[in-house]
Amino acid sequence: MSKKSVYKATEQGWQYCSYCKQDTWHTPKLGLVASNKRLCTRCNTSNELKQNKEMKDPVVQQVIHKFQNRSEVGIKKYGTTLHENNTDDFLNHLQEELMDAILYIQKLKNLNGGL
Ligand SMILES: [Zn+2]
Repeated sequence: MSKKSVYKATEQGWQYCSYCKQDTWHTPKLGLVASNKRLCTRCNTSNELKQNKEMKDPVVQQVIHKFQNRSEVGIKKYGTTLHENNTDDFLNHLQEELMDAILYIQKLKNLNGGL
């Protein structure tokens, strides 16, 4: 038997937005609680809570949300998708991103007083 999560109209949380067509962060609002709805913080649409929804990991949902936002920014900035782009040197991109990642690790260690 799978675990179920109880979603309350009086608490903040991720849920599907009928306007955004994806899971977004929702916040409670006085006047909506009685009708078991919360407000999408992205588009201000009120959405009804679905009880006994399959439990989702909020950490995973946060990362999915970031991937989606990052994708939208990238599409606006470059006018293409990763799916459509078959010309970039992805191996080189990967190496450079990992090199940056190592630098960020060192910087964070320095900030935390490490060596
Ligand atoms: Zn929305």
